[in-house]
Amino acid sequence: MVTRGEGVLLVLSSPSGAGKTTILERLLDQSSDLVKSVSVTTRKPRSGEINGKDYFFVTEERFHELCRTDQMLEYAKVFENFYGIPKDFIKQNLSIGVSVLLSIDWQGAFHLFKLMRKKVVSIFILPPSMEELRLRLQKRNTDTASEIECRLAEAQKEISKRNKYDYIIINDNIDKSVEEISSILKKEKLKRLKKKLS
Ligand code: 5GP
Repeated sequence: MVTRGEGVLLVLSSPSGAGKTTILERLLDQSSDLVKSVSVTTRKPRSGEINGKDYFFVTEERFHELCRTDQMLEYAKVFENFYGIPKDFIKQNLSIGVSVLLSIDWQGAFHLFKLMRKKVVSIFILPPSMEELRLRLQKRNTDTASEIECRLAEAQKEISKRNKYDYIIINDNIDKSVEEISSILKKEKLKRLKKKLS
């Protein structure tokens, strides 16, 4: 019989524009035992974003109802919007040995560290430099100049939290970053399985 062990909660944080979304898509493509948790948000969809894939887009009223009825693992206000992680999806996958990837900011990550530190493997993705981050945000063409300034200020704050994470990766090459995260995930799953079997 093959013993899979419990899945790990893989938390990825980074300032916006550091390449997290591309890394995350590649990781999901190449791993059959990894799924992404889709957060709920009150933010309006950006062009190209799909409800249920990028986020579950809901009204503030619905968001507060989900919190009130204890259906959120954690939630936070980021910029002017609310974001939260639905509980059930995570629990179900971890229990059948599937790891769950969470793409959240430091506030969300710190909430999870408090709730379930042992289950969480956390990785902080750094851009090669602040200048490079500014260029990437401009190239992305989804935000206005003042929104970019706001994201850069937020990025500085986010980056200052990096030492609380289990691993830090500098994303100067997407392939290399994906490879690094994959091997961290394998190593951490094996560590957990060994512990379970000992
Ligand atoms: P964006 O609006 O650019 O998609 O995301 C803004 C920020 O919200 C990002 O830093 C993202 O990681 C964070 N975020 C997305 N989902 C969640 C969540 O469920 N909880 C928390 N705390 N932050 C989230």
